[in-house]
Amino acid sequence: MSISSFNPPRRTLMGPGPSDVSQRVLDAMARPTVGHLDPTFIGMMDEVKSLLQYVFQTTNELTFAVSAPGSAGMECCFANLVEPGDKVIVCQNGVFGGRMKENVERCGGTAVMVQDDWGCAVDPEKLEQALQQHPDAVLVAFVHAETSTGAQSDAKTLVELAHKHGCLAIVDAVTSLAGTPLKVDEWQIDAIYSGSQKCLSASPGLSPVSFSPRAAEKISNRQSKVQSWFLDLNLVMGYWGGEGKRAYHHTAPVNCLYGLHESLVIVQEEGLENAWARHQQNHLILRDGLEQMGISFLVAEQDRLPQLNTVFIPDGVDDAAVRTRLLNDFNLEIGAGLGALAGKVWRIGLMGHASNQRNIDLCLSSLRAVI
Ligand SMILES: *Cc1c(COP(=O)(O)O)cnc(C)c1O
Repeated sequence: MSISSFNPPRRTLMGPGPSDVSQRVLDAMARPTVGHLDPTFIGMMDEVKSLLQYVFQTTNELTFAVSAPGSAGMECCFANLVEPGDKVIVCQNGVFGGRMKENVERCGGTAVMVQDDWGCAVDPEKLEQALQQHPDAVLVAFVHAETSTGAQSDAKTLVELAHKHGCLAIVDAVTSLAGTPLKVDEWQIDAIYSGSQKCLSASPGLSPVSFSPRAAEKISNRQSKVQSWFLDLNLVMGYWGGEGKRAYHHTAPVNCLYGLHESLVIVQEEGLENAWARHQQNHLILRDGLEQMGISFLVAEQDRLPQLNTVFIPDGVDDAAVRTRLLNDFNLEIGAGLGALAGKVWRIGLMGHASNQRNIDLCLSSLRAVI
């Protein structure tokens, strides 16, 4: 048997992630691997931390990238903040809120679910009611940008409600970070996680997280040990945060971090506000083109995410056949519907490096050719 090197095709990635990775980021990842305790690498890790503080708009000390994809960032927040017996209010308006429930229960907590229709934003009034009905709740969790539907929720208001009732707030910002306005300190978010492969346009495999001083205090005052050794922040911080003394915890994914560093430098060069504005402008151009083809959106205009466009599949069009032709004939990937929306919608991403005019043109012209 002789298996030769893998040479992937060059696709245009306009699904729900991963998004297109720029040549600059790919080049950064191809640079020589150094030891993860090498002084030069430690210097780069410190820069990654500063750059993450910038994109999260926070001064939180406890800000770093978990060495695993967004799902691990989610698990990191729940594993550290939920103790057995804790009651957690989870707002669900799509697939990822369901995963939050799983996390709460696996940490020994009780999840109180606040449900909204898929495609709608989380309703602050329902959260307020749940907080009144459950005064013993200690945490509120919700998804800022629901990638399964393309709906955006009002994170600032939801966090305010959580605090008013004495709860800390965990926010999923996997798809929102660097694509849509997000201000961790101003909105007083306590724990937040994201992913490298959505609007940051780095390769999949890293999960930026940030914890407020209040969340850090709750973690260090836990009664029970964090059930995950790998994600226990009390241990991880000796590695990422330990002043001068960087103790071995695990081997960082060195080259993956070069890529994240480069992608963050690119966001810094563009300016975070400019990146948010670019996502919004390109969303409007794509929307106009799709609507001219008679294609309509799932989410009401005021709740739409610019970086994830969920549209109804036109009547009589074969979902899988169209996506296969887009991939084979145009090297273009768009996303299928998830869960209850499978077969009913497409999810067209305009995330990070992939949010540009060329991609919009390619998407519209190839959809016109295929439908
Ligand atoms: C993609 C995504 C995740 C999971 O991230 P992975 O990198 O796929 O593990 C979690 N939450 C939301 C909202 C996402 O879009």
